[in-house]
Amino acid sequence: MSVIGAVDIGGTKIAAGIVDGDSRVLARRSAPTPAADGPKAVLAVAARLVREASLDAGVEPVAVGVGTAGVVDAASGMILGATEALTGWTGTPVALLLAAELGLAVHVENDVTAFLLGEAKAGAAVGLADVVAITIGTGIGGALLVGGQIVRGRTCVAGNIGHVPSPEAGDRRCPCGRSGHLEAFASGPAMTAVYGERSGRPVADLREVALRARSGDALAEEVLRAGAAAVGRIVGGLVNVLDPALILLGGGVLGLGPWYVEAVADAVSREVLAPLDAVMVRAALLGGDAMLVGAAAAARTAKASA
Ligand SMILES: [Zn+2]
Repeated sequence: MSVIGAVDIGGTKIAAGIVDGDSRVLARRSAPTPAADGPKAVLAVAARLVREASLDAGVEPVAVGVGTAGVVDAASGMILGATEALTGWTGTPVALLLAAELGLAVHVENDVTAFLLGEAKAGAAVGLADVVAITIGTGIGGALLVGGQIVRGRTCVAGNIGHVPSPEAGDRRCPCGRSGHLEAFASGPAMTAVYGERSGRPVADLREVALRARSGDALAEEVLRAGAAAVGRIVGGLVNVLDPALILLGGGVLGLGPWYVEAVADAVSREVLAPLDAVMVRAALLGGDAMLVGAAAAARTAKASA
């Protein structure tokens, strides 16, 4: 069966793989993102990694799928909006440029959408048509699968769960420029900042907050649990709106441990309407492969309908 090249473009790392028709990743390559060097440099690395992975796997892909940070118009493969983590990324016609570089059809999705599609194809969300996905890491991202379709919205921005107003966030400044959003309280950097403020002892990163929590620092544990509860509160509200089968959790913050997923689930159960309390809350299963598998699946679907 034909294989698809897949690329996951993040602010710090680009990963590429070759994915077969059973969603197996046959080969993987990765490299740091030359984020400050502009879109051409980023896409040159992406193309090189696809070629290298293809050589490793010993098969030529028939199309390429990309998952990338930013607001993506999947129909055109264009980046409609992105943060400064990738310099000049807004306005980049990723599908067009990468297709010219590789001589293959290229399909582009937002990275959280690719994550959800990957987990739906071969991970924690297999067989489910209604899923709310949320990734908690440096930022908080989201994607929605409703009735088997990704909800994109009128301008492709739908799914921004990190930018829902959260009572816990108060008037904390959000990276989006507004204030009081979930991401301003519950992302990795936000919890690190909250701990620093409340303890009067600023720490370098979330890892250090987690270490302190494990060594008995009650405030550190309280801050982490409050972050999980804030996520669960917002997600619980979304459950009441969308009635999904599954809340799918991903992102680096899940590295805090299995208790984090349980704490989110507890907070969800405190918010949901009684008939909805059977909603499942699960951690993603595929790790970094989710984005590759999902981008490949989207590219395969796009190729079939082309
Ligand atoms: Zn925001």
